[in-house]
Amino acid sequence: MIPPPFEYRAPDSLPEVLALLREHGGDARLMAGGQSLLPMLKLRLVRPAVIVDIGGLRELAGVTEDADAVRVGALVTERTLERTLGPRLPLLAEAAASIGDIHIRNLGTLGGALSQADPSGDLAPAALALEATLDVQSTGGTRRIAARDFFAGPFETGLTEDEMVTSVSLPRFDGIHGHAYVKMARRAGDYAVVGAAALVSLAPDGTCEEARIALCAVGPTAFVCGDAGRSLQGTRLTDPDLAEAAALAGKAADPVSDVHASAEYRKEMTPVVVARALTKARERAGRR
Ligand SMILES: Cc1cc2nc3c(=O)[nH]c(=O)nc-3n(C[C@H](O)[C@H](O)[C@H](O)COP(=O)(O)OP(=O)(O)OC[C@H]3O[C@@H](n4cnc5c(N)ncnc54)[C@H](O)[C@@H]3O)c2cc1C
Repeated sequence: MIPPPFEYRAPDSLPEVLALLREHGGDARLMAGGQSLLPMLKLRLVRPAVIVDIGGLRELAGVTEDADAVRVGALVTERTLERTLGPRLPLLAEAAASIGDIHIRNLGTLGGALSQADPSGDLAPAALALEATLDVQSTGGTRRIAARDFFAGPFETGLTEDEMVTSVSLPRFDGIHGHAYVKMARRAGDYAVVGAAALVSLAPDGTCEEARIALCAVGPTAFVCGDAGRSLQGTRLTDPDLAEAAALAGKAADPVSDVHASAEYRKEMTPVVVARALTKARERAGRR
């Protein structure tokens, strides 16, 4: 079958990209690493009239930081997150390292992965647990969207048709803390059956000051398990404390069946994966 024709544009600057989005609206699709867009085109899941290749916009491929946050450009690749951001953003780096295989990670970008809003995407739970903010631009100006408000449904975001993500800001996390991203998948490189990001911070006396848990692959979007996180506040993160939080996370899971796993299996595995992530985070915070 002859593929539907589309116009291919590769502008040199951000203002040109934004002007094309304004001109073509929903008929245009951005292409960053192409690792989700190209399969969708091949499967005829999307039929854009114009593809706007942003891969050449080096201004979106940098990392800057100040006292409060690390700002990662939308075009920073998953491989760069994995290889170079570990010391500054270990949770994001760990989640990035779990994605597909190295060929995918060399091309896939942070902005593309979050904008794809795949319910099984590995970077979303890390972004949620880190309370990331997405910096968004259109010809009309800029705005910031909290990761918590960004994922609107399966493969749907809070972006309007003329907007794009330019960078993602991740607040610094100081003090005694530990993190972990744990992914259960059928085979190395597969999408998650369940993915859990956990972050715990401890008071000087060793009690848990704050805990954040976010999941992917067990709901229409990645999401934060607020009850599970809150249940750990003030505890000493004992094994029973972690088990209780994991059970609460399991209750919040509302998965569907797909080629990777049944809904029932996902539901059952959610507390297992969350307990593993919390145990690792606790160890990394220096508690056993
Ligand atoms: C074989 C295979 C295995 C994979 N395995 C995993 C996995 O295990 N875990 C996982 O999380 N992911 C996996 N992925 C997906 C991978 O992480 C993709 O790279 C990622 O989802 C999309 O990033 P991209 O830069 O390639 O985006 P693209 O494919 O270029 O774009 C994806 C979507 O986002 C839009 N978009 C891109 N950039 C922006 C922007 N800056 N602002 C607004 N919209 C934008 C595009 O228009 C498109 O709709 C896999 C992909 C493949 C092909």
